[in-house]
Amino acid sequence: MKRYSAFAIAREALRDHTGWQRAWRKAQPKKRYDVVIVGAGGHGLATAYYLGKNFGITNIAILEKGWLGGGNTGRNTTIIRSNYLQDPSAAIYEKARSLYETMSQDLNYNVMFSPRGVMMLAQTEHEVRGYQRTAHANALQGVATEFISAQRVKELVPIMNINGPRYPVLGALWQPRGGSARHDAVAWGYARACSAMGMDIIQKCEVTAVRQEGGKVKGVTTSKGDIDCEKLGLVVAGHSGALADMAGFRLPLESVPLQALVSEPIKPCMDVVVMANTVHGYMSQSDKGEMVIGGGTDAFNSYTQRGSFHHLEETVRALVETFPMISRLKMLRHWGGIVDVTGDRSPILSKAPLEGCFVNCGWGTGGFKAIPGSGWGFAELMARGQSPLTDEFGLNRFTEGRFIDESVAAGVAH
Ligand SMILES: Cc1cc2nc3c(=O)[nH]c(=O)nc-3n(C[C@H](O)[C@H](O)[C@H](O)COP(=O)(O)OP(=O)(O)OC[C@H]3O[C@@H](n4cnc5c(N)ncnc54)[C@H](O)[C@@H]3O)c2cc1C
Repeated sequence: MKRYSAFAIAREALRDHTGWQRAWRKAQPKKRYDVVIVGAGGHGLATAYYLGKNFGITNIAILEKGWLGGGNTGRNTTIIRSNYLQDPSAAIYEKARSLYETMSQDLNYNVMFSPRGVMMLAQTEHEVRGYQRTAHANALQGVATEFISAQRVKELVPIMNINGPRYPVLGALWQPRGGSARHDAVAWGYARACSAMGMDIIQKCEVTAVRQEGGKVKGVTTSKGDIDCEKLGLVVAGHSGALADMAGFRLPLESVPLQALVSEPIKPCMDVVVMANTVHGYMSQSDKGEMVIGGGTDAFNSYTQRGSFHHLEETVRALVETFPMISRLKMLRHWGGIVDVTGDRSPILSKAPLEGCFVNCGWGTGGFKAIPGSGWGFAELMARGQSPLTDEFGLNRFTEGRFIDESVAAGVAH
């Protein structure tokens, strides 16, 4: 695989860009692999990448029923932060955030990581206390955040109305090295690196059954035939319940639609990410100039990749209070994804009840930021049977009552 570089861009500019290689090979499935990963979203691809990079396991197939990165990974609002309350969450999200810092160099692919700063507005006394508590917890966890005043919020985001009609801004939890990255590029960068290591990424290949023998996984049945494997990783976000059903167990999560929208592009007016959890909405400005807006989940289970109209209305209405200038913007398009939400709003990275089968799911509304940390830990779990990053996120926490309650940090925000 030829490396991308400034020299390569100059060379290709001189020969009409005829020398670029395909970013990843078009592969056909082999009969057998050491590892099969179902789902070529960010988490599946990152898992395969770190299995190869950290453990030398490269006889891997990544099976995708649609197109690579076409699930939630290509549909999210790209917020990256690690300001979680509980220690296991802070550990895995901060690992992910730190890997984002060097991801472009590591993958030799520009993922446009932009650590522009993320603020979560406190708009009630209760939120002030909650975020101050999180800032203290983060200090102990080694995550750099601080609680800032309303005045400082206004300095950082001059377009904000901090004297909102319903909820004035009282302060914010500020993570200066949080930010965003280009979601497609994260999937494409991992895919290119996996393909370069010899792994097969097989698109339009739907898994329709999980085959087992003597209580152990044997392989999968797909729309392109049977594929055998030693180990199977199920990394399918909103379809996790369906895949678990094929493997003969149930998962404690629900699939619900979550949607986002973007405005027409405008000149740069806001260079941080703002999340307003009380009025319920969050916003950042993309490099193209569009205001990227996200809201909450629909209140019903669904497998459709779109959400209900009233949610869009509520989100925009809430944000207009906080950013009056967006009332004059035209909204260009909206879309949805199917998010897999657990009761404690924390993910599941676990051995499954079926031997040789592993599940990585439950990232709900906030798993984009976790992609590299999740891939790192899940790869270790699959390769060695244990990982300090994933220990607390096992399925047994639901039967033992050891919940990792992140409903404040992740329940409504991303
Ligand atoms: C609107 C929206 C906004 C969001 N905003 C943020 C945000 O700002 N920050 C953040 O951190 N997170 C955010 N998220 C959450 C984040 O997008 C997800 O947690 C994350 O992308 C999940 O990645 P994944 O790889 O697990 O799943 P996906 O990217 O969904 O990948 C799973 C793949 O599995 C495939 N698949 C399913 N069934 C099968 C099958 N039977 N056979 C083969 N393949 C199959 C699917 O086609 C899909 O491509 C948001 C999500 C949405 C929908």
